[in-house]
This record gives sequence, structure tokens and C-alpha cells, in this order.
Amino acid sequence: MVILKTEALKKYYGKEPNVVKALDGVDLEVQEGEFVAVVGTSGSGKSTLLHMLGGLDKPTDGKVIVGGKDISGMTDEQLTIFRRRNVGFVFQSYNLVPILNVYENIVLPIELDGNTVDQDYVENIIETLGLSEKKNHLPNNLSGGQQQRVAIARALATKPSILLADEPTGNLDTKSSQDVLGVLKMTSTKFHQTIVMITHNEQIAQLADRIIRIEDGKIVTMEGWI
Ligand code: ADP
Ligand code: ADP
Repeated sequence: MVILKTEALKKYYGKEPNVVKALDGVDLEVQEGEFVAVVGTSGSGKSTLLHMLGGLDKPTDGKVIVGGKDISGMTDEQLTIFRRRNVGFVFQSYNLVPILNVYENIVLPIELDGNTVDQDYVENIIETLGLSEKKNHLPNNLSGGQQQRVAIARALATKPSILLADEPTGNLDTKSSQDVLGVLKMTSTKFHQTIVMITHNEQIAQLADRIIRIEDGKIVTMEGWI
């Protein structure tokens, strides 16, 4: 089943004669449970694509369809609700709350939304991500790789339809990067979690199910179906 789809997606910044065509007609389909890596040089449009997929910004033209719903025409208010219900974000920086322990950080977005924590699911995530021993620790006592695993657990805990990761291994050494990728891969398999990840690291990208390459706002090749 297709969970995420773009049709002739365009995002232009600025005005003539200085228009930057950050995305210039992107057609993309991601299956439910698929783990996709988006690669490309700096300025090729990766971040812009992720912002469109996650409803952080609006397209100039074209469609973004998530779970059968076209989000491209939504108002800011509708997009805020859409993001809360459907999208998990993971960034290069972990953005953990330093005075809250690992468990508290993971359930914080659920509690802020006034929802009930699904304890079994959260425990399952914590165990799967290898954080059981660290539940009561403060973020500062963890390594970078461990902190990123907490950030991933926090994103997963809200049961998002799509998980979007922007350079999740950008601050990590090779060993921790592979560790974090292992965790992402496991969640895509075990929880059938759809993941779209930006990376400029080709070796890291190889660990995804599929690689999409962007150049000058266009998809240039699709390779690596496993
Ligand atoms: P990448 O993530 O691959 O580095 P981006 O999506 O950040 O690429 O940027 C694609 C192009 O769009 C670049 O030329 C960048 O400078 C431009 N761009 C991105 N965001 C903005 C913005 N808010 N305003 C103007 N230009 C932007
Ligand atoms: P990344 O390192 O993930 O590619 P960037 O450094 O390209 O991110 O962009 C960081 C933020 O700045 C994004 O929100 C992007 O939209 C914005 N941005 C990027 N390029 C420009 C630009 N030329 N003018 C204004 N904003 C920009």
C-alpha cells in the first residue's frame, strides 16, 4: 500500500529573476513500511522535500498525499494537526529536554497532546531500541548514539504514519551511525514503520531499502530495491 506520494511537486523560493527551484517536479511513491534514503549534494533539495512531506512548509505547485489525504492545500492550522497526528521527526540534533529522564522524554509529546500513553507499546519501543537500562538516566549521561535512539523512540511513541529523519547520523561517528541505522531498520521491520531519511553519507544510505537521488530539485535515479 502506498502511504506517501508526491505528484509533480514543486517548491520555488524567491521572486523572478532570482527564483530558486528547490524542487522542480518530484514524483515519488513510498510503500507502507518502506525505509527510503534520500541522497544528494548540499543544496539539491533534500531538506525542502522533507519539509513538504512533513507538512512543515507548503508547495508552490503539485501534491503531497499522505495516507490518501492531500495535504498540499491545507491551512497552517490543519497542517499543525496533521503533523501531530501523522508525522514523527528526527533531526541531526537530538532536542532532548535535559531535566527529564529518558522515559519522560519519550512520552512527553504524547502527554503534551493530552493523550494516554500506551505503556506496552512504549516499553516495546524502549526495549527494541536497547534503552531499557537507560530509562531513568538523564540525556547528558548518554552517548550521542544513545541520545539519538531516545529521539527516535520519542518520534515512534506517537505512532506516526511516517517517520522523517533529516541527517540523523550527522553528529555521530561511524560506529554510532551504523548503530542508529540498525535501530531505524529494525523499527521499519518490526513496527512496519515507514521511514524517509535524508543523508549525504552514501554508506549510511546503502542500509535503507531504497535510495532516491536528488539533483537540482529533481529525482535522477532510483536504485537498490531489496
Ligand atoms: P539540501 O537539503 O539538499 O541541502 P535544500 O532543500 O536545503 O537542499 O535547498 C535547496 C535549494 O533551495 C538551495 O539552493 C537552497 O539555498 C534553497 N533554499 C532552501 N530553503 C530556502 C528558503 N527558505 N529560502 C530561499 N532559498 C531556500
Ligand atoms: P540542511 O543542512 O538540512 O540542508 P540547510 O542548511 O540547507 O539545511 O537549511 C536550513 C534551514 O534554512 C532550512 O529551514 C531551509 O529552508 C533554510 N534555508 C536554506 N537555504 C536558504 C536560503 N538560501 N535562504 C533562506 N533560507 C534558507
